[in-house]
Amino acid sequence: MIGVTVLGATGSIGVSTLDVLSRHPERYRVVALTANSDVARLYEQCLVHRPEYAVMADANAAQRLHEQLRATAPEIQVLAGLEGLEAVAALPQVAYVMAAIVGAAGLLPTLAAVRAGKRVLLANKEALVMAGRIFMDEVRASSAELLPVDSEHNAIFQCLPDDVSSGLDTAGIRRILLTASGGPFRNIPLSELHHVTPNQACAHPNWVMGRKISVDSATMMNKGLEVIEACWLFNASPDRIQVVLHPQSVIHSMVEYADGSILAQLGSPDMRTPIAHALAWPQRIESGVAPLSLFDVARLDFERPDIARFPCLRLAYEAMQAGGTATAILNAANEIAVASFLDGRLPFTAIPAVIERVLADVPVRDAVSLEVILADDALAREAAVRRVDEATSKRA
Ligand code: NAD
Ligand code: MG
Repeated sequence: MIGVTVLGATGSIGVSTLDVLSRHPERYRVVALTANSDVARLYEQCLVHRPEYAVMADANAAQRLHEQLRATAPEIQVLAGLEGLEAVAALPQVAYVMAAIVGAAGLLPTLAAVRAGKRVLLANKEALVMAGRIFMDEVRASSAELLPVDSEHNAIFQCLPDDVSSGLDTAGIRRILLTASGGPFRNIPLSELHHVTPNQACAHPNWVMGRKISVDSATMMNKGLEVIEACWLFNASPDRIQVVLHPQSVIHSMVEYADGSILAQLGSPDMRTPIAHALAWPQRIESGVAPLSLFDVARLDFERPDIARFPCLRLAYEAMQAGGTATAILNAANEIAVASFLDGRLPFTAIPAVIERVLADVPVRDAVSLEVILADDALAREAAVRRVDEATSKRA
């Protein structure tokens, strides 16, 4: 039995992970479940999956969960805070850790799993965006196994040769073709973009996801973060990664080789496929995903991304080229801007504007340590809050 910790169990990826795990009770055992503050959902999950540990990042929420479990499942130990998250990522009886916390909050717990030498199923792309070099160095220094869960990166992983550590050229790879649906606003008139609402932004045409990543998909910052993620995972420079709009979301990404071959991975847009792949690799297991009917898909379309419509994509490429803490600053500014948009305080088109200003406000440093990265993350959040306040007071 393989012991599994699910970080971010109550989220979209967490729920899909538990669905796949529960199809294979003879293979996997849920050891720990974690969430931020959603006590009701984690409580329910505890009763179904009976983990040894339940962690709430929020201390008050942990107290409430503890009280509820005392009556029904007193054997489950409740932990709180970052310490609790890091502890369950590193338990000896855990072999696999699903890293599915959203945003910068996922970095330290995911790193704890890496340092403890676990198989890390990485959904939390923000960890690599913030601290790619340090993160990958830690993976190499430990016996950790890093498997991408982000559907595009999982697709690329499936299309790559076994070892790309000595670079794409040595492996005969010309380019990575990172597909993107273009989100809900691919075709709406640019003049209407200013007025779109959070609910419109979260209504993704092909995928059901958490609200932050849904907004990132609508701005295409998600694809920008994924370009950065791919650079670190596959040891590639950003100019070797081509974003390809593919509205059907059936091809999840491709690898183009020197001989002209392009390998693609196809499937229904359902995260249980990459989750099951990363859990079972190098074997294959049932995921619960219905087989893809190519006759129903009928056609596959491709377009170049429109940078004028999606400035976030440009900002992400520029931050990756700039290096150092630029991508951590980009990520932090984006988290604040997206949260402000979801709160109804910032118009959609101001998201890239805020991020661009913060990138100009906060000086980029060499990302020499986690301390430096986290300090620049904090500076970028402060700068972003100021820029959001400015934008809001101008509107008032
Ligand atoms: P979500 O918002 O649905 O869930 C986030 C989870 O993180 C929840 O369990 C929440 O309790 C937890 N969390 C939030 N803030 C926290 C904090 N401060 N401390 C501890 N835990 C916290 O998000 P999601 O859509 O499941 O995405 C999770 C991650 O996976 C993100 O990094 C996202 O980019 C990535 N991802 C998601 C999808 C998808 O289809 N949803 C696809 C690819 C990658
Ligand atoms: Mg993705």
